[in-house]
Amino acid sequence: PLAVVLLRILRNFDIVGQSDLVDYLTFLSIGAQAVLLSVGIADRFRNLKSERDVASAEREEMRVLAETDTLTGLHNRRGFVARAQLAIGQAQQTGQGVALILFDIDHFKRINDKFGHDIGDMVLERLGETLRTHVKAMLIGRLGGEEFGVIQVGPGPHAALQLAEGLRKLVTGCRLDDILDGGHTTASFGVAHASFTTDVQSFEQLYVAADRAMYRAKQDGGNTLRFFAPEMQAHTRRSLELA
Ligand code: GH3
Ligand code: MG
Ligand code: MG
Repeated sequence: PLAVVLLRILRNFDIVGQSDLVDYLTFLSIGAQAVLLSVGIADRFRNLKSERDVASAEREEMRVLAETDTLTGLHNRRGFVARAQLAIGQAQQTGQGVALILFDIDHFKRINDKFGHDIGDMVLERLGETLRTHVKAMLIGRLGGEEFGVIQVGPGPHAALQLAEGLRKLVTGCRLDDILDGGHTTASFGVAHASFTTDVQSFEQLYVAADRAMYRAKQDGGNTLRFFAPEMQAHTRRSLELA
């Protein structure tokens, strides 16, 4: 382009002869510049977009990490509760029932005491793996230490109990003999169900109900499940632990 400008100046001063070639070169130069400029701008936009895509992928990755339990690969409490609240809200809008199943490993402290904390961790890891591969259709999380939660939208109370029974068998059948010297583990299950015909509507209410039922399952010897009944009002597991 500079050469063309120079050429035009020289022509205007009659230093070079009048020629259409100078005009052609001018147009060609302007055209080429426009093309180069638009290619450059498009490229810059592409870069900006891919930078934005990378940043939002990183944000998404951070969010997933913040809501995932590292040991089991399941949702952690935060991830589980957020999704559970969403699921319950949607279920209420569509008039579907919601089941919350809580379960807690029986005598987990004994495993830690006998085999050590690392082996305890391996048990949790293996259980997480088993649950992840077998319960794909449900929302499942590790809510704390050796306590897990499952939310399922749609089933009635009876089907919810059947789901819990399936989970109980899954835990009992989880292969741990290589880690626990031929041993295995069991868990106690509490099941609560919400629908428009019951008072239980929020996640918190469902959680308290399932927790009470789980406490009853523990009291009744463990490795079993109990459905929440309103007469289970006496004590929650947690208030007993605090006492
Ligand atoms: P229960 O049948 O009443 O549930 O008895 P429990 O021994 O399972 O219950 P308790 O609440 O007395 O003990 C739970 C134990 O789980 C205590 C704690 O050290 C252990 N625990 C919690 N989180 C972890 C963890 O991430 N890894 C390991 N290895 N142990 C954990
Ligand atoms: Mg326990
Ligand atoms: Mg516990």
